[in-house]
Parts: sequence; C-alpha cells; structure tokens
Amino acid sequence: MIIIGVDIGGGSIKGAAITSKGKILDGFTLPMDKEASQEVMFSRLADTIKNFIDTHKYEEEISGVGLGVPGILDKANGIVISSPNMPTWSNFNIVKYLSSKLNLPIKIVNDASAAALGEARFGSGKDYSNIIMLTLGTGVGGGIIINNELYDGYKGTGAQLGHALLELNGRECGCGRRGCLEAYASATALKKDTEKLIKENPDSILAKIANKLGKVNAKVAFDADRANCPLGHKLVTDYVMYLSEGILDYANIFRPDVFVLSGGVANEGEYLLSRIRKYLKDHDYGYKDAPIIKVEQARLGYDSGKVGAASLFFGRR
Ligand SMILES: [Zn+2]
Repeated sequence: MIIIGVDIGGGSIKGAAITSKGKILDGFTLPMDKEASQEVMFSRLADTIKNFIDTHKYEEEISGVGLGVPGILDKANGIVISSPNMPTWSNFNIVKYLSSKLNLPIKIVNDASAAALGEARFGSGKDYSNIIMLTLGTGVGGGIIINNELYDGYKGTGAQLGHALLELNGRECGCGRRGCLEAYASATALKKDTEKLIKENPDSILAKIANKLGKVNAKVAFDADRANCPLGHKLVTDYVMYLSEGILDYANIFRPDVFVLSGGVANEGEYLLSRIRKYLKDHDYGYKDAPIIKVEQARLGYDSGKVGAASLFFGRR
C-alpha cells in the first residue's frame, strides 16, 4: 500500500508517498501563504497532490491521503475548526473537499498526534506500547499512544500537552493562559530567554556566538554552554528544568514506556537528553523502585509527521 502523508507546518506544507513499511519514496513541498484564504490554500494543495500523483507512477497505486494538521480539529467529521499557523482557516471540511478533488479516501489527525504515530510505528517508539511524544518547536506539541493506539480525545482534538500549567500566573502563552509549559520549553521560549540575556550582556560569549551566527535560535544557548559561557549554562540548565518538570508531570499521570522528543531543540541530541535524564532521576516521584523514565530523540526527525499521517491507513501495528 502507498499513501501520501502530508504535514501542514507553519512555513510550508510537506508531503510524500510512503509505503506501509514506512519508506519515503518521493516528496513535495508547497509554501504556506498566510495571506491566502483557506479555499485558495486547500485548492493549491489539491492541485499539488494531483500533480504529484500524475507524475509519479509506482507498482502499487496511491490509495489514500493522510494529513497532520495543527490546531483544533473535528477529526471524525474531517473538519479543521481553527489553526494557529493559519489564522484565516475556520471550519473547513478538508476531508470532503480533498476527497471530491482527488477521488481518494482522506484522513486527518492533529499534527503532534501524527508525529507520535510515526515514531510509534517506525521510529524511536517502535519497541514500546505506551509512548508520549513532545515536539519542541515554535510551540510544544504532544501526542499520546496508549496500548499501541493513539489517544487523541474528544473528536480527535488531540492532546495539548504544551498547555499544561508549569507556573501559576507565569509567562503569557499564545493560547491566552499564563504559565503554560510551552511558554518555557518551546524553541521560541528558549530563543526569547537567550535574546534577553544577550541584550543585558552584549560582551558575553553568548552574544558573540549569536553575532557570529547573525541570528538567535535555540542552538545559541547550547553552543554557549559548550563554550563554557555561564549565561549559556544558565539557559540550558533552566531549559532542562522546565522541560523535565513537564515530563515528570506526564510521567506521573501516564508512566509511559518512553518519551520521544522531536523538533528544533531535540536536535541537540544526547547533550540535551543526558541532562534531562539526570534531572528526571534526581526529581522523580519518591518511590525508590520507580523504573527509570526513558527519554529518546525522535528517529524520523522532521519526517515523523508525514509518516504518521500516512500510517492512519496502515491499520493496527
Ligand atoms: Zn498555553
């Protein structure tokens, strides 16, 4: 079976033909146009997929399209209710629209849930039954797999793990609440914290690293820490604390077999993971026999969303 898996991101829509073994055959990218109406954007997407199908012939026919969509969905009815990346999208029946244009079955899922499905079936979660995925990018997304099945709540809205409370009356969050994990543990939050310290300490190693790079991203703090900069060390230490406190909460609720981390910050790999593992070990719920909380980096990287969206058609693993 070959399915087109699509990942709708803030900057672009990426898709690929994916086999039921999780192999990516060919892909396409459609730039996101935030000014365009939803009708225009989805019509471009339909044309792009149609064109892709017409120009790529495989031994097996393409038999469906799965989409990972950020925002609030009514999965059962195929409707995108709203999306933070696309402010103009509202109550659009993407399943009805695309299936009439493409004559193929269409399925949708929350984007972080898609990433969790991809990692669960083909990535770092494949040896486990209970998995929590955290995506550390613009925001903090969450996906929950329980007993090998996606748990995505009422009408498939998805698990908004990034909007669990870390600090009462804390930092402002994009969702309208204060103190959400996302406001501390997203790549955006780390970038903001880094910018603040650079402004206060223009002669620091941290500032020099950012100047050399010509911008501030989540990696600057880690590079500064690696260069023994005390500010970099503080940023990384605080970041590890914020994220790990979130992970501890989810561990106490779900005790999953493994946490899988993806997104920009997770690219720090073992440098980040080893510090998180140490924090978790030192702060885990008090019983001495508690199993170690496993934390791994997503193996499929930026492909996990596409692969997971396609896997909506692959049945139970
Ligand atoms: Zn929030």
